[in-house]
Amino acid sequence: MTILKTKDLKKCYGSGDTAVHALDGVNFEVESGEFVAIIGTSGSGKSTLLHMLGGLDRPTSGSVTVDGKNIFTLKDEELTIFRRRKIGFIFQNYNLVPVLNVYENIVLPIELDGNEPDKAYIEKIVNTLGLENKMNNLPNNLSGGQQQRVAIARALTAKPTIILADEPTGNLDSKTSLDVMGLLKVTSQQFRQTIVMITHNEEIAQMADRIIRIEDGKIASGDPK
Ligand code: ADP
Ligand code: MG
Repeated sequence: MTILKTKDLKKCYGSGDTAVHALDGVNFEVESGEFVAIIGTSGSGKSTLLHMLGGLDRPTSGSVTVDGKNIFTLKDEELTIFRRRKIGFIFQNYNLVPVLNVYENIVLPIELDGNEPDKAYIEKIVNTLGLENKMNNLPNNLSGGQQQRVAIARALTAKPTIILADEPTGNLDSKTSLDVMGLLKVTSQQFRQTIVMITHNEEIAQMADRIIRIEDGKIASGDPK
């Protein structure tokens, strides 16, 4: 089942002579449960694309369909709710709340949405990610790799339709990067979680099920489906 689809997606920053065509007609599809890497050099349009996929910013033209919904037909408030319910984010800088412990960080999105945490599901995720002894720690008592594992746990726990990850290993050394990527891959399989990850790192991209290449705001090669 197709869970994500972009159609002729374009994003232009600025206008006239100084206009930057950050996305110049992007078309691809992602199947439910797939782990896709989008790879491209700096400035190729990766972050812009991820912002569009997550409804964080609106395109100049074209569409993004998530779980059958053309998301940019939604008004801003509806889009905010859609994003909170359907999209999980993992960022390079982890984005954990420093005054909350690991467990509180993991359940925060669920509680903000007024739902009860599924304790058994969380325990499975936490054990898979090797965080079971860290639940009472504050984020600044953890290594970068541990903090990113918490961010992964937080994203998975909310059971989003899609997780979007922007250079998730960008702040980690190469060994820790591969460890964290290995765990991201294992959890995506174990919990049948759809993940779209952007990266500039070939070795990291190779761990995904499928690689899509972006160059100058266009899909360059690979198998966009
Ligand atoms: P990447 O994440 O692959 O490095 P970006 O999506 O950040 O690429 O940027 C793609 C292009 O769009 C670059 O030329 C960048 O300078 C430009 N760009 C990105 N964001 C903005 C913005 N807010 N205003 C103007 N230009 C932008
Ligand atoms: Mg970027």
